[in-house]
Amino acid sequence: MTNENNSFSITYHEALRKANEVGVSTFKAKEAQKSLEKFAKEQWLESDKGRFLLGNRALCELRVYLLDFYPEEILDCYVCNNIATKGFICGYCGKAIHTFCHTELSNEKNSSVCLNCNKDYDPTDSVIGLVVSSP
Ligand SMILES: [Zn+2]
Ligand SMILES: [Zn+2]
Repeated sequence: MTNENNSFSITYHEALRKANEVGVSTFKAKEAQKSLEKFAKEQWLESDKGRFLLGNRALCELRVYLLDFYPEEILDCYVCNNIATKGFICGYCGKAIHTFCHTELSNEKNSSVCLNCNKDYDPTDSVIGLVVSSP
């Protein structure tokens, strides 16, 4: 599950296909599906609109591993220092921030002002992961 197009996620079907690729021949699609549901329940994965992301638990426990193997692709939120899979990256200072951290700390709702350098960045160009901007 690498960072293709900054999405940090794969679709349900991709996940099932991946499970088939890595699985032994007896590892049937149905069991793969069950495993995905189990992972989601245990917060290893997070499902969002039919796609799967690494869940909070995976992000915490695999952090060292992820940083080791994908140092270029891992973006840490500069507010809480956790890996940001859903958030924004500022086009000016390059800092990444979680959507929820940004919302939490912004004075205005739907603000696109970088809290680090105070510049107004383009929210559609700066998306990390599955950020769905509210209309
Ligand atoms: Zn954060
Ligand atoms: Zn900035």
